[in-house]
Amino acid sequence: MKSTDSRLHLQHATLVSLAQSRAMESGDFQKTLQELTEALTRTQQVQRASIWLYTAERDGIACLDLHEAVKNEHAAGVVLKQNDFPGYFRALEEERTIAADDAHTDPRTREFSTVYLAPLGINSMLDAPIRHRGKMVGVVCQEHVGPARSWTQDEQNFAGSVADFVSLALEANERIKAEKALAQQVEELARSNAELEQFAYVASHDLQEPLRMVSNYVSLLERKYKGKLDPDADKYIRYAVEGATRMHRMIEDLLTFSRSARDEQSIETVDAQAVAKDVLANLARAAEEARAEILVHPLPTFRARGPALSQILQNLIENAIKYRGDAAPRIEVKAERSGDDWRFSVSDNGIGIDPQHSERVFRIFQRLHERGKYSGTGIGLAIVKRIVESQKGTVWVESTVGQGSTFHFTLPAEA
Ligand code: ADP
Repeated sequence: MKSTDSRLHLQHATLVSLAQSRAMESGDFQKTLQELTEALTRTQQVQRASIWLYTAERDGIACLDLHEAVKNEHAAGVVLKQNDFPGYFRALEEERTIAADDAHTDPRTREFSTVYLAPLGINSMLDAPIRHRGKMVGVVCQEHVGPARSWTQDEQNFAGSVADFVSLALEANERIKAEKALAQQVEELARSNAELEQFAYVASHDLQEPLRMVSNYVSLLERKYKGKLDPDADKYIRYAVEGATRMHRMIEDLLTFSRSARDEQSIETVDAQAVAKDVLANLARAAEEARAEILVHPLPTFRARGPALSQILQNLIENAIKYRGDAAPRIEVKAERSGDDWRFSVSDNGIGIDPQHSERVFRIFQRLHERGKYSGTGIGLAIVKRIVESQKGTVWVESTVGQGSTFHFTLPAEA
């Protein structure tokens, strides 16, 4: 038996090395348990050391790892049932270290005497409870083969420290399991999103062809038979042509929508002022017709996806012109820094949006007016939302009916 000093020294060194265990850090649970049982056999000078956890039903304990020093082998899987060893389990439930110098006679361990201890030549047992999240969850066992020995206080303490390491390993294991589950969920979500996107794209793309056929033939019908059949027939044909035209526009928009947030656009230095200028040039005719006054305040230059910003501004300014009230449209485009983002706004003095619809307007094909009053299919804001969110920004609207609306969106200043 080692002297007390060198024993304490070894215990201390072992605890330090366990604290730096790679297996523990990387979350390799089984390897960590093996390191712990090996540390026990080596440091406590026992032939057998094992780690046990309660079964899910709590009707027994299952061996997660047993290290046998002589053979230097690990084993696992044995289950001890509470019904077979009631005295031992009662002692365990007291949640105190069981230091049985003579395991054959100690009331806490003597149930093991003939069935287990004698065949293996074990005479002394030292068991330390494992506590985890305020509950006793298992036990760390040391079994000494050879003449009975008396467990010192420092050996009992060391067993307790190893039990604490098991608790840490359990914690790391739970955390890693949760992280893995989360990563898996994220991956599944990304996959189903991608599938949905693909579906929207393929569906709208493939629908174009039969639709083209329908529109061609109803147009042909219209041209050939207009005024030659009865008035009802003329009306029905006209409805069919209108329906086909509308559907064509919606499918085109759906395609634009499904293409809108693809990550193909590279990040570049974007001069928002120049982007706004181009957008205004595109909209010059509509602006002129509406006698719109559009004021663009100084806008930043920052790293972003250029075409994305252009599309957002185009849709918002176009709407600001389209949904004007009786007065000539007065539109302002601004940007200000807000933390890590640039916060843009496009405000108008138009018809406004009832706040109860301020979420709905961003949904695909959602419009607040009957068809015919304003042109459009209800996809512009859905595209804006999709683009902004794909750039990790947010978009929202503040509005008062009859007074105007302000659309805000943020984009990260450093994409
Ligand atoms: P669209 O203009 O094709 O209808 P959008 O998705 O761009 O589609 O807009 C959805 C709805 O939100 C519009 O139908 C309109 O009712 C409302 N809306 C959008 N922009 C404005 C605005 N600047 N002022 C008032 N209403 C607006």
